[in-house]
Amino acid sequence: MHLGKLATAVLLSTAVAGPAAATTPAIPTPGAQTAGDRVFPGLGNGGYDVQSYNVAYDYQPGKTQMASSVDIVAQAKQTLSSFSLDAVAKQVSEVTVNGLPATFQLDNAKEKLVVTPKVPLLHNLPFRVHIVFAADRALEPHSPNFPELDHFDHWTDWAGGFELMGQPDRSHLFFPMNDVPSDKARVSFKVTVPSNLQAAANGTLQSKQTKGNRTTYVFSTRDPIPTHVAQLAVGHLTEIKGKGPHGLPLRSYVDSSKAKAAGPRVGLVPDQLRWVEHQLGSKYPFETYGVLGVGGVTGYALESATLSMFNVDYLAQPNTQDVATMVHELIHQYFGNAVSVRTWDDMWISEGHASYYSGVYQADKGLVKLDDFMHNAYNFEVENRATYGPPGRPADTLEVLGGTNAGGLLMLNDVNHVVGAKKFREIEHTFFERYRNKAASTQDYIDVANEVSGKDLTALIKSWIYGKTTPVPLGHPDWAQPAPHQR
Ligand SMILES: [Zn+2]
Repeated sequence: MHLGKLATAVLLSTAVAGPAAATTPAIPTPGAQTAGDRVFPGLGNGGYDVQSYNVAYDYQPGKTQMASSVDIVAQAKQTLSSFSLDAVAKQVSEVTVNGLPATFQLDNAKEKLVVTPKVPLLHNLPFRVHIVFAADRALEPHSPNFPELDHFDHWTDWAGGFELMGQPDRSHLFFPMNDVPSDKARVSFKVTVPSNLQAAANGTLQSKQTKGNRTTYVFSTRDPIPTHVAQLAVGHLTEIKGKGPHGLPLRSYVDSSKAKAAGPRVGLVPDQLRWVEHQLGSKYPFETYGVLGVGGVTGYALESATLSMFNVDYLAQPNTQDVATMVHELIHQYFGNAVSVRTWDDMWISEGHASYYSGVYQADKGLVKLDDFMHNAYNFEVENRATYGPPGRPADTLEVLGGTNAGGLLMLNDVNHVVGAKKFREIEHTFFERYRNKAASTQDYIDVANEVSGKDLTALIKSWIYGKTTPVPLGHPDWAQPAPHQR
């Protein structure tokens, strides 16, 4: 994010199958109702891993409730007597597991839907969950982790339509899910809207069918994405198509009233993609890219997977120099989306990389001096760390949205300083390729950096990510300033 200024075989048999299970069959137990994240302790669920979500909505203008359903394909990681999903909904009316009716309980205060299947789910086997529910865009409880600061509309209603802002911990307002960044899954949205409106979502449009005055769009992603960057927008949108490197299909969706004005900035995307591919030595990781320019988004932008979301006025401004946020969200497609964070304490992997390469891009294009960019980041970090803690142990949960950038990018700059530009690129390329479509932790980054460089960079990296005080950037003792007093 950028804030402000800155088919599956279903086995129902309980019989023990195969030689691997020759020992005593596991006794079915309930899945944990948390993933155990330090930053968001209530979030996530144990005992399974999701492969895909197929979500369906029926959108009627003027009504906040939508007849909805989700089909989930997951794999059991233990033998489950029951399991939970993160969920907030007006109502859940039906749940089936592997085609059989299941008992279920929705607790909107705990934000959990607990499902007890008729037959226990065997360890390592896939299972399918079908949930019929009523989503309600008026039902927007604040994050229990920063209730007083949660000013975001998550179901963001806008000019007769809406879009989604689920980061960091609110995507389960949209549909029941395992809402943690380490459990990535393919996402498909099927939405029926009045035919005068257009829908846009993560991935590629698979079909568009009109019956009477209603049109049904189906979008789906080719690759797994983290839940906090799921996106579906409905409104008066104009599609702008293009071609990226290697014939990559591009499509952007912009508020129709400002689509023409946004043309020049949307036109910058192919060059930005080429620059990033060259910088990282890795092809853009998804099947398509583009920008979403909508209203209702104030003071932030979001790296929705394959479709970064911006306030349309940012895209429609005539100045094509102010590209920091565009490049920041594009980099997130690599770091944050294709390589997701293992836990929220690893968020610098996402934000640090996005901001680092945004600075390098601007320096490359002569828009900023890299030293000035780093110096500004350092001044921000000294102040921020004293108040909110280091990027790898944020004391304030809202920090994951905007407070891990500076510490992360300064660490990357120091690693570059120690190993040299060539080795640094090799570290970055190796880390990205090793963890794309997976989740990575800070330790994973340290391991790759040490392995590729042949040096022990552990202390350097840890001082930036976990240190109580901000390290002095290498080569810049002149920048050092005393840490401000703790407030
Ligand atoms: Zn960001």
